[in-house]
Amino acid sequence: MFNETNTLPDGLLDAKANELLSTLKAPTLIHLEGDIKKPLFVCTLLHGNETTGFYAIQKLLQEYRNKTLPRSISIFIGNVEAAAENKRRFEPQADYNRIWPGTHHSDSAETDMMKAITNIMQKKKPFASIDIHNNTGYNPHYACINILNPRCLQLAELFSNTVVHFTSPKGVQSAAFSDFCPALVLECGQSGQQDGITHSVKFLKSVLNLDSIPSDHPGNINLYHTVARVTIPEIFSFSIEENSDIQLSQELESRNFEELKSGSIFASIKSNNDAYIAVTSESNEDVTGEFFEIKNNKFILKKDITISMYTTDERAIKQDCLCYFMERIHIA
Ligand SMILES: [Zn+2]
Repeated sequence: MFNETNTLPDGLLDAKANELLSTLKAPTLIHLEGDIKKPLFVCTLLHGNETTGFYAIQKLLQEYRNKTLPRSISIFIGNVEAAAENKRRFEPQADYNRIWPGTHHSDSAETDMMKAITNIMQKKKPFASIDIHNNTGYNPHYACINILNPRCLQLAELFSNTVVHFTSPKGVQSAAFSDFCPALVLECGQSGQQDGITHSVKFLKSVLNLDSIPSDHPGNINLYHTVARVTIPEIFSFSIEENSDIQLSQELESRNFEELKSGSIFASIKSNNDAYIAVTSESNEDVTGEFFEIKNNKFILKKDITISMYTTDERAIKQDCLCYFMERIHIA
């Protein structure tokens, strides 16, 4: 189901993300040798419409076109089929960042592919693993980690002072690789923005040139933990307009990583409607009542909470979620 190669595929350095299906034909794992043999693993296009990672890798490899890489690099280019259509994924297709070892999805050709890639990479003892994504709504650039250990935090801090720790959803690439190397997710703002590409290239270059990752606690991190995921049940219509079952706030799109105070209005419901927004904890329990009360057809926050990845984009909400709720954590 995927290709594996030790050379740079023809046309890769000049292709657009939506041309990768014709350039590569299938998801592709590429190993390129550098001076230090323990490879850096870089993963991109697990979501087909999040192109920053691919263009960052392309830029990096262009810069090293006639030079030896300081460290070997293994690159996995994921959902080229969805990338051809600029979609996160195709509807019947599994989400490529929910099917890695540890997933709750049942076995399929796609879970087998991710298992195979994980096994190949585990044997190579990677130096670190970096999976590059984008958000739909407006967010700062930040790094996500699945294990709170100093080397993960050090690596995250190299990218951003804003770091998110999460344990749910399951089956994400970074969590699978956290079993055997420091693993990060980079969230590089919205897809297609040049500053996300520039920032990622700079980060990848500095990691490629690192001899080791320090193991003391980093000093300057704003660390958040994801406590819940917010979704809208399929049966209800939603938009930023008044005529839907649920009216979303467009203003919240610019308030990701800001703390919303208890008592803030989060969304509205059409009067005489039983529509609701669902809040699910990390262990998949319904915790809606802990976060929201409904007063005068408004969803009111019952506690202070920081949001991330909030979007009003219909497809993104249906395929993923409305936002995440986070709390600040302090490490000793
Ligand atoms: Zn993504």
